[in-house]
Amino acid sequence: MHSLEQSLKHYFGHDQFRAGQKEVIQRVLENRDSLVIMPTGGGKSLCYQLPALLKSGVTLVVSPLIALMQDQVESLQDNGIPATYINSTLSGDDVRSRTTSILEGEIKLLYVAPERLLSEQFSPFLDEVAATIGFATFVVDEAHCVSAWGHDFRPEYRQIRRLRQRFPRVSTMGLTATATRRVQQDIIEQLALQQPAIHLASFNRTNLYYEILPKDRRSYPQLLHHLKRQQGSGIVYCLSRKTVNEVSDCLQVDGINALPYHAGLSDVERAENQRRFIRDDVDVIVATIAFGMGINKPDVRYVVHYDLPRNLEGYYQESGRAGRDGEPATCTLFYAAKDIPRLEYFIEQKPDPNEQRIARQQLSQVVDFAESTICRRQILLGYFGESFSNSCADCDNCRHPKPKSDWTVEAQKFLSCIARTNQRYGANYIIDILRGSRKQKIKERRHEDLPTFGIGRDRTQDEWRTLVRSLLHQDLLRETTDGYRVLKFTTESLLVLKGNHQVMVAMPQQPRREQTEKSVLDAASEELFEILRQLRKQLADDQNVPPYVVFANNSLREMATRKPQNLGEFSRIPGVGAHKLRQYGERFLAEIQTHVNASTPQRQRQAPTFWQLYRQGLDLSAIAEVQKRPVQEVADEVGNLIAAKGNINLRQFVLPAKQDLILQAVRQKRITNLEKLKSQLGTGFNEWEIKLVLVWWQQKNQSSTAQRI
Ligand code: ADP
Ligand code: ZN
Repeated sequence: MHSLEQSLKHYFGHDQFRAGQKEVIQRVLENRDSLVIMPTGGGKSLCYQLPALLKSGVTLVVSPLIALMQDQVESLQDNGIPATYINSTLSGDDVRSRTTSILEGEIKLLYVAPERLLSEQFSPFLDEVAATIGFATFVVDEAHCVSAWGHDFRPEYRQIRRLRQRFPRVSTMGLTATATRRVQQDIIEQLALQQPAIHLASFNRTNLYYEILPKDRRSYPQLLHHLKRQQGSGIVYCLSRKTVNEVSDCLQVDGINALPYHAGLSDVERAENQRRFIRDDVDVIVATIAFGMGINKPDVRYVVHYDLPRNLEGYYQESGRAGRDGEPATCTLFYAAKDIPRLEYFIEQKPDPNEQRIARQQLSQVVDFAESTICRRQILLGYFGESFSNSCADCDNCRHPKPKSDWTVEAQKFLSCIARTNQRYGANYIIDILRGSRKQKIKERRHEDLPTFGIGRDRTQDEWRTLVRSLLHQDLLRETTDGYRVLKFTTESLLVLKGNHQVMVAMPQQPRREQTEKSVLDAASEELFEILRQLRKQLADDQNVPPYVVFANNSLREMATRKPQNLGEFSRIPGVGAHKLRQYGERFLAEIQTHVNASTPQRQRQAPTFWQLYRQGLDLSAIAEVQKRPVQEVADEVGNLIAAKGNINLRQFVLPAKQDLILQAVRQKRITNLEKLKSQLGTGFNEWEIKLVLVWWQQKNQSSTAQRI
């Protein structure tokens, strides 16, 4: 009898279950209904995939997005697990051959879209499966789609319960990453789950580092500087399509491999840009929030919000697309108070005043989050009703706590002003009174006559706002949640007024910039890691799958540090299951062996490779000199790499300013002939500089013409 852990290693290569997985799996094996609520990256899929392999019959998975379905099936097949999908992209022949292999018992997991599931044609097939090999479990992925309260309601999901009525003995499992109670209750009702085992995981994503950077007036150089220090894949979210286009154009010119994504692009272009991101052909996607739904890329290392998000739920979901693989990842929000009016403008366009009010409150929650001096996690998790103790050590505020000072007197001034206006106003109005504002409303209400009028001129508006936020977080004050945000006393407020409670507040200074954590590999392992990454990319491209399907980053990292010498050692690398061992073991071992041999002392005196020198940051003539080759020859090699979409940073070889001038000549004057360009540009340019930029431009243009076809 195998333990669940052994099966986990055998099929998926993982050594341990993540929190909650094992319990859920046991319930499924007992044929109980269940509801699994885990944040993105929590490892939901395994909760039904492993039982599917251990139970007899077919596990039927309902999934809303075709792209997601294909992705899941590819990953499973790469682990040697018999899975398939049936959806509208398949030809009739394909569908027939797939249904045949299902009925022959060759398939353990079948993915379908909800509309197909309940169609007339599909019905006899379901009966046939039930009568022959049987169903193991019904799985409803993204189960919040059944709920009109969720953010992604799909009416066809409501029909799924009919399955339940037709096959009452098959247990059903719902999975979602949506945190609100209302949606959870709705899922249970809509799917008719019977006494379900509910697993509600914490929404704390412990591997994510949260930071807010004050956005400079010239924000683009700041973004560029930030991105240059990041490694791996990343997403930059912007508010508008226009910003997306501008930022991604600029990044390309500045040598960062970036592509845009927004609803204004054609379907083909969007799909292609997304594909190139998933396949690691580009490092950065610059996108509106349209990007991300249904993207399963587990190794996104950083998410940047270049503009202010509209609400905290959105921010949590978008930033949560980083680090699904559980490896450290960074979430950075660029914050400037001057972005607020733009969002307010959007809100004013909403026709319904009630909606406007709610949107305003949501926006101010985001502002509070950005301006706060307390733990970012505490605020985010608090938003989902989860309490979180004082600090996390993994956000900017916890790593660099701001010193606190005594603000008791100011707090008393503030509270007494609230008392004198009968707890009927919001923070901004109270601050206006304290600062002696001449606004019309204050005059009309005769609040100029209050003894508190103007007694707070010695503090800035920002300081007062920080004080209010702090009072709210410390429960020394509360505000109504109806969208009006009226400030009200708590029992504690009176203690402050009476002088029985000292108020300590951390006033923000300029937050320090974070140094992102570099990976912990030594130089030699770093190099091997890079080599293995290239092998992974090649194997992935050969099979037409994304690289992470072959191996996750942490598997490569372990290979690079442990340097396994034989299949036995290789099998102990996390992420290496039985199937991957057979499929890839030899190839990776050979590469590791070559590398180990090459770095033994006697061989080390050999000339370093191009890649080694490139990674050391050498420019073209330096590389040529070290390798004792003609510059022209090295330039040709680089040109070929660029043409083959290799991961080359052009900046290292051609100064950005020069790139700009060359591109200008190419784009505006439409010169693509090398000789003509040379004479146009004059003596300041090497021939190979022009050539490299030209190749880069052609490569880029080719792929975008290819997209348009
Ligand atoms: P979710 O659907 O909850 O967002 P996934 O099921 O896609 O999450 O899993 C996220 C990542 O975590 C995947 O890369 C998966 O391989 C990995 N993973 C899941 N369970 C484990 C585990 N027990 N050990 C290591 N990695 C795991
Ligand atoms: Zn924290």
